[in-house]
Formats: sequence, C-alpha cells, structure tokens
Amino acid sequence: MAQQIDTDASLRLSEMFFSIQGESTYAGLPCIFIRTTGCDLRCTWCDTAYAFSGGRRWRVAEIMEHIARWPCRLVELTGGEPMLQKNIHALIAALLEQDYTVLIETGGHRDIRGLDERVIRIMDVKCPGSGEHEKVFWDNLPALRPVDQVKFVITGRADYDWAKQVIEKYELTAGPEILFSPVFATMDARELAEWILADGIKARMQLQLHKFIWHPDTRGV
Ligand code: SF4
Repeated sequence: MAQQIDTDASLRLSEMFFSIQGESTYAGLPCIFIRTTGCDLRCTWCDTAYAFSGGRRWRVAEIMEHIARWPCRLVELTGGEPMLQKNIHALIAALLEQDYTVLIETGGHRDIRGLDERVIRIMDVKCPGSGEHEKVFWDNLPALRPVDQVKFVITGRADYDWAKQVIEKYELTAGPEILFSPVFATMDARELAEWILADGIKARMQLQLHKFIWHPDTRGV
C-alpha cells in the first residue's frame, strides 16, 4: 500500500535553487538545494548565517511543485540545520516517492537515526575551531553507513589532529566516506593536503567547488 504523505505539512525555508554540487562525493553534479531556515549552532566560519532567520513557510506540495521546474533528480536538504524542521520527514517522504536521490547535510548535533534509510547523510563533525565541538551528537557516528559521508571542516593543525583522533576512536575509515574541507580563504589547502599525504589518511580532500565557479559570496549557487 502506498505510504500516506502529508503534503500539507510545512517547513520554513530560506531558499531553493539549482546549481552545481560543491561538496561531498557528489561534487560537480547538478543538484537542487533546499535550504531550511534556522540553526542552533554558531560555527565561527559559518558561510550561511543569512539562513539563521527569514524566509517563509512552504507546504510540501508547494516545494515539490517548485522544484519540478529543474531537470534534476538529485536533491540536497541543507540549512541552517534541516534536522530542526519538524516536518523534514514529510518532505523526505515526498521526495523519495518521486524518485529523487536525497542528500541531507547536517551539523551533526541532532539525532539522525530516525531518518529514512534511503537518505544519504552528510554529517559534519564540528572541530574545536568551529567553537561548537562540544555539541557533537556522538551516537550518530556508529549509525553512518558506507554510503554516508562525514565531514571535518579544518581551520588549522589543532583541528586536523583532533579529527584524526575522532577517526581512529570511531574507526571511521571502515565506514562512511571521510571528507576534509579547509575553511575557505582561511586554511591553506596545500598545507592540509600535505598533512593528509604525510599521514596517509584515507580522507577525501574537498574544496567548495561553487566558490571557485562563482564569487565566494554569491548566494543561491
Ligand atoms: S551548523 Fe551550518 S548553518 Fe549552523 S552555524 Fe554551523 S555552518 Fe552555519
């Protein structure tokens, strides 16, 4: 029997747009982004502070109609913090029913274990340089699968060493894809690359591709 989906449920969104995925193993692919409003973290290097407030509520049915204009079946739910939206599960159900591949990018401080198993999780582990490392919800880590991804945003050597310890403690190299991302225009990407090579860490170095294609401050890309 078809699942009953509440398409009247609503979520507060900051923006929706169609662009090139800039991060993760999906980098380079066309992708629809649905950015929710609101976040309960305040990372020092946050580049989407405009999504802390504003936007408007959208019904799931409206969202589905809005994104149907774009020739793409890959969607990323991002924020802000999408896990703060009570109705995120209704939106996910609607997207999956229409055969979208659904990625969710989360700060990692909210329990993700209740997500539909078809959703691909891209979870931050906030390093000390973010100022939010004490909020990490550690029980999420064992729940990550090989199709999921765990991202460490690195501000410097202290973050890098801390990330290495987390990888070892939680045996992450046997699980999700590991992403290392230097803070744009702050952390020297070459330096981070050299640390990864020196240690032979099985992590994927990533740069935020969209910030090279468009001006780094451009919104909606
Ligand atoms: S979790 Fe994301 S949206 Fe929230 S403050 Fe950190 S970087 Fe910004």
